[in-house]
Order: sequence, then structure tokens, then C-alpha cells
Amino acid sequence: MAKSFKQKGKLFVISGPSGVGKGTILSRVLQEVEGDFSISMTTRSPRPGETHGKEYYFVTEEEFLLNIERDNFLEHAVVFEHMYGTPKDEVLRRLDRGRDVYLDIDVQGGLQVKAAYPEAVMIFILPPSLKVLRERIIGRNADAADVIDKRLAGALNEIKLVGEYEYYIINDDLDVAVADALAIVRAENCEVPERVSPIIRQYENETN
Ligand code: 5GP
Repeated sequence: MAKSFKQKGKLFVISGPSGVGKGTILSRVLQEVEGDFSISMTTRSPRPGETHGKEYYFVTEEEFLLNIERDNFLEHAVVFEHMYGTPKDEVLRRLDRGRDVYLDIDVQGGLQVKAAYPEAVMIFILPPSLKVLRERIIGRNADAADVIDKRLAGALNEIKLVGEYEYYIINDDLDVAVADALAIVRAENCEVPERVSPIIRQYENETN
């Protein structure tokens, strides 16, 4: 008996304000389920501990613009003065092979994906409050003070677009947030596909 009747992978879009914990939730989810994290391209510099080809493909502005010109992105956006984009071919190839793909992208990018790929499962991660978000961003200490201010100012603008998403998760207790994300992923993977004939055929074959 097949483990799953899925013909195509699912595309999960995870958005939410910077510092809300999208990356942490996503890496915990990917320890539990089959799926691939889509590595984005960015013009921002690597932070200490980040490596090219793991967290991001770190490229120059020229390289990024060339990729836009060649229509290589599923979506791309400027976030806090740096360019970020999702490599299109890599994502589509994995989906065709039946792999689920996870994007950690900002809301502008999320809306572009939704327009280009309406089957995408849209998940928004919310902080318990803006106060908690501020403390987390400062605690992470990865950015200069002016960047932190920009990230906080952008947070409310992103939250205002939560209505464009299908699911929301409040990241108060991390374990609960991860459990919520896993529940969404599992439910989406139990959705009856458009083409049900392979399912029916499998059971019919048993009667022959
Ligand atoms: P960071 O620089 O902190 O890694 O990411 C900043 C923001 O950019 C985060 O909200 C992250 O989700 C978003 N981001 C990362 N990769 C992409 C991408 O490929 N496209 C878009 N639109 N946003 C991205």
C-alpha cells in the first residue's frame, strides 16, 4: 500500500515579522516531516555563522539583477534595503518530484507567490505582542540598532496583511507553535487531491 497518494508536492509559504521565529519553527518542522527548505538568494552580507548555500545564496547586486532579468525567481522583494528572491526552477522541480517545499519569505514575496501559485499553503506567524517581538529582536543581537528600529517599524505593516494568509500561528510557546505548524502541514497532506482515480484504482486492483 502506498504511504501517500500525493502526485505533486505542496508549497508552504511561511511569513511573519522579522524576529518572530519563522526560521526556528521551520527547522523544527523539517525535523519531523519530509520536505525541503528553499534556499533564497540575497544581497545582504552573511551574519556570523551563516554559510553560502545553507541559509542563503549570498550574491552581489549585479548577480541578483541578472537573475531578475533571466526570470529566475518565483518571487523577489526588497526587505530592509537588501534584495531577496526565491529561485524558481529549484522549487518547481522539487514540487514536480512530489517533495513539499517550504519558503521563509516576507509578506511582499508571499503575496507574489500566492498570485503565481494559488495552490500554495499560506501560513503567517504572529508574535504574542509587539513588545515581545522587540525583546526578541534585541535579544538576538544580530543587527545594528538602526536596523532593529527598521525591523520593528516594518512589523506592524506586515501584520496588517495577515488577512491574505490561510493560517496563523502565535509564537508564544515555541513547542505549541511547532505543534500548530505540524498540524497544518499534516492536514494539508491529507487533502483529497484533484485526481482521485489513482486512489480508487489502487483499491480496485486488490479486488482483481
Ligand atoms: P534575514 O535578513 O533576517 O535573514 O531576513 C529578512 C526577511 O527577509 C525575513 O522576513 C525573511 O523571511 C525574508 N526573506 C528571506 N528570504 C526571502 C526571499 O527569498 N524572498 C522574500 N520576499 N523574502 C525573503
